[in-house]
Amino acid sequence: MRHNKYEQQKIVQIADRGIEACPKADWTVSFETKRQMPQKTWGVCNRKTRILRVRQDLCEVNFLDTLIHELRHAQHPVLFEAEEFISDTSTELAIALLATGRVRAFPKG
Ligand SMILES: [Zn+2]
Repeated sequence: MRHNKYEQQKIVQIADRGIEACPKADWTVSFETKRQMPQKTWGVCNRKTRILRVRQDLCEVNFLDTLIHELRHAQHPVLFEAEEFISDTSTELAIALLATGRVRAFPKG
């Protein structure tokens, strides 16, 4: 039996600001291989199924950038309205978080 170092899916709670009362809901974050994802895609946010898919084979900064990016799509009232803003700021946040030395996308051990 093959054991992975990390779980393939995690449940997180995110408030969807597209819903008036803004309730938090369970979202599944699914870590995917390159082959499981559409071509040239690092991440996908599906609001209908509340599933975020992120490629797990990316380097640390790209993985964290993509995870932040898709989480922010899940929060935003209009899925693709803020694409440029989300894209730019998620990359900056990923770099800044890693630069603190307190956050790691892939914990040691
Ligand atoms: Zn996007």
